[in-house]
Amino acid sequence: SVNTERHEYDVVVIGAGGAGLRAAIEARQQGKRTAIVCKSLFGKAHTVMAEGGAAAAMGNVNSNDNWMVHFRDTMRGGKFLNNWRMAELHAKEAPDRVWELEAWGALFDRTKDGKISQRNFGGHEYPRLAHVGDRTGLEMIRTLQQRVVALQQEDYETHGDYEAYIKVFAECTVTRLLKDGDRISGAFAYWRESGNFVLFDAPAVVLATGGIGKSYVVTSNSWEYTGDGHALALLAGANLINMEFIQFHPTGMVWPPSVRGILVTESVRGDGGVLRNSEGKRFMFDYIPDVFKDQYATTEEEGDRWYTDQANNRRPPELLPRDEVARAINAEVKAGRGSPQGGVFLDVSTRLPAEEIKKRLPSMHHQFKELADVDITAEPMQVGPTCHYIMGGVEVDADTGAASVPGLFAAGEVSGGMHGSNRLGGNSLSDLLVFGRRAGAGAAAYIDALEARPKVSSEMVADAREEALAPLGRHGENPYEVHHELQRTMNDLVGIIRKSEEITEALQVVEKIKERVQLVGAAGSRIYNPGWHLAIDLRNMVLVSECVARAALLREESRGGHTRDDFPGMNPVWRRKLLACSTEDGTTIKVQEKPQSSMRDDLITLFDRDELKKYLTDEEMAEFDGITK
Ligand code: FAD
Repeated sequence: SVNTERHEYDVVVIGAGGAGLRAAIEARQQGKRTAIVCKSLFGKAHTVMAEGGAAAAMGNVNSNDNWMVHFRDTMRGGKFLNNWRMAELHAKEAPDRVWELEAWGALFDRTKDGKISQRNFGGHEYPRLAHVGDRTGLEMIRTLQQRVVALQQEDYETHGDYEAYIKVFAECTVTRLLKDGDRISGAFAYWRESGNFVLFDAPAVVLATGGIGKSYVVTSNSWEYTGDGHALALLAGANLINMEFIQFHPTGMVWPPSVRGILVTESVRGDGGVLRNSEGKRFMFDYIPDVFKDQYATTEEEGDRWYTDQANNRRPPELLPRDEVARAINAEVKAGRGSPQGGVFLDVSTRLPAEEIKKRLPSMHHQFKELADVDITAEPMQVGPTCHYIMGGVEVDADTGAASVPGLFAAGEVSGGMHGSNRLGGNSLSDLLVFGRRAGAGAAAYIDALEARPKVSSEMVADAREEALAPLGRHGENPYEVHHELQRTMNDLVGIIRKSEEITEALQVVEKIKERVQLVGAAGSRIYNPGWHLAIDLRNMVLVSECVARAALLREESRGGHTRDDFPGMNPVWRRKLLACSTEDGTTIKVQEKPQSSMRDDLITLFDRDELKKYLTDEEMAEFDGITK
């Protein structure tokens, strides 16, 4: 018999990265009994791996910076497809969230006059990333965990129980959300170690599960990023938007094969590193797109001067948004001008003194020395694109993080909209804080307004249990083989450059994989059994992959993290369309077009007419002229 332990909470937060922790802190601060459930060890989330920093227009290094400049940069980075309300809230609130972290004990690097220092990053007009060397995410997680502990200590004082109001369930994987009619009533999970089941009875769930990178072979993401939250939301009846937009970070390690895809932080370029091809050429100067022509240096001399004099020079094209740089590297390698191991060269050794490199980029120095036997203070690195981040995710209300399913909230990488078609570096860490807080508050307010607590249905629990157990009884296909084929298919056919025939082929493969997933078997028992865990995760990866491929096939234009070889340009008509994925039967994905709402007048008028012309339809331009007349 299979016993299921049961817990009652007000809010269950799934995920203990920056978004989950910030949401949980908020829910607890608003008096809600909160569970934090995470698949990996507490403290091990993507957030901890974040290197570069958190973008916030504090204006500490350049006083010209403010939320309006940050808002503009974010919209440009996302090629104007962003949910503008989210971009607005993010730009306005990010500084407060960073200062709040400092008040909770975070130790950011400092400017000479003692303010929080800020570094340059691609697409940001001014130095904007608050950072701690190249280990910012670690400090962020450390601080948020410390805050959780501080709240638990307060609760001990009041209630005599550290875990009275906030409890962490680590190494516990959620496999299903439960509903009472239309509403969320809880979540179903299993302990990774024992394989025993756990039932969370709760009227509100905040998804903060991060990304989907493990659907691709070459990725900077680690094992737990199998798109669980995306799939849980779909299966609960929510929409996913922007799923065709995947960020391939331009610089992942390419060698040795065992570490292919591991991230090389953008800070290397932010701090002066340059990209060269096999001919020694700084090729990025050949790849400045029209929409960015005015903002980037056209000569190496000007680009180099910018590091010391930003007022009078334009930034080097190595600091274009990530989609642009990734495509350029891809093109150089394809044209036969790549490095010996199939990437291009990224060189900081000729640009900064060795001591400075070790000080500013300690993890990168260590990573290359240990993993590739390359000394980055003396020789160039070899780098190439790697699947890094998904812009798409749960469609949410900007102000509260609420999904369309009552009681369901989402924040962080699992949510969609904020970053449009492409995220700027550093905008994720700040996104986690701003929208994590808002989702926690949204969940608390939802509970306060609730008349009756939704009930957990025992049939749903039985179904979830049966679904989870299914692979164990079967002598079916090996889940690792099925997973690898899915990863290869997505990497090769729905990767950085896409075309109709290839995406169609990918969908056919995904269709077959879907059937095979029904038949995978895991040998062994429920006790720590990674093969069984993967068999369970496959359902999620297949659902997410199908969303990515279906949306990618429909969007007949190239924009941000979606490049169609057969539709190379950006099309203003497509900017007005969002593709929303949903499922009714739990296996078939439906994609529907939804109109993108018009930007509020006071926001759209922050842009110059000439710039808007590059993105907006004639009709929208006429509207704009009406406002500014
Ligand atoms: P995560 O931090 O990814 O946490 C997800 C949590 O959900 C984990 O606790 C996981 O265990 C849990 N989880 C997942 N599925 C389940 C499930 N089924 N059941 C229970 N728990 C589950 N962004 C920046 O802004 N600046 C940077 O410098 C930067 N550098 C990066 C470097 C690397 C190497 C990587 C990979 C990403 C980087 N990013 C950066 C992106 C950023 O780190 C992530 O987008 C962000 O941390 C995601 O945070 P999150 O809170 O949404 O989720």
